[in-house]
Amino acid sequence: MGQRSRGPCRMPLQPRCLAILLPMALGLLAGCRREAPPGWRQHDLADPGLPRRSEAELSRCAGRLRLPAEEARPAHPSNFGERQPRDVLGRRVPHTPMLVVLHESVLSAPATLVLFRTAHPKDEDQVSYHVLVDRSGRRLRFVPDGQRAFGAGMSAFGDATVRIRPTSVGSINNVALHLSLETPADGRGDGDAHSGYTPRQYEAAAAQVLLWQGRFGIPLSRVTTHAAVDRSHSRYDPRSFRWDRFRAAYDKAAASCGWHAYANGLASW
Ligand SMILES: [Zn+2]
Repeated sequence: MGQRSRGPCRMPLQPRCLAILLPMALGLLAGCRREAPPGWRQHDLADPGLPRRSEAELSRCAGRLRLPAEEARPAHPSNFGERQPRDVLGRRVPHTPMLVVLHESVLSAPATLVLFRTAHPKDEDQVSYHVLVDRSGRRLRFVPDGQRAFGAGMSAFGDATVRIRPTSVGSINNVALHLSLETPADGRGDGDAHSGYTPRQYEAAAAQVLLWQGRFGIPLSRVTTHAAVDRSHSRYDPRSFRWDRFRAAYDKAAASCGWHAYANGLASW
């Protein structure tokens, strides 16, 4: 027989009423202890299932590309951090390289180096890329791939973004590899365009992207620009970047290494 047929619970301390009310009260208390659920969902990027190359394959490919070794220029530790495996609520968040973001430095390469090597205690001043390609095509390495470079603040790739703190805006830094091109001298200001990048910069950038794809299994459809992932509506780099020139250099590099799996023409996964 159902409880309702025995009449309403009138006296709170009656054993039958306690049996009803106590679990309700405990439930309410438990609800108070629990953190309020955040108003955002986790967004992840699907595994594209692309091949990941061994160290031997990666160095063979670099040799075929006749790529000079990257030059170590470590950034000050305040300007980069750890890729975070969990958010503050203990939920797992994506934290391995899954996409490549292209930038331009605006500053000269030497001035960029000074900026990244300067200690920046305030969050808003901290900045870095993993690699900068200078005008002659040299690759300057500021941050190891395994670390989190601070290249894009408020940002998302489609809907995918990672929030480390419930109060923070999302950023793709946790899953991004940041590559910057040194800006030509006529692009130091805030103009809409400049004279663009050198053939050697396109070659070195394409080679670096290909090696990252081989190491982490990243499709070409996840190579993007800061302008495309920015959600602060204040970033528009790399200005005067020509995808057709990058793509020509990329196709040549991919053919040299025989790595055709990463550019299959798909727009998304
Ligand atoms: Zn940028």
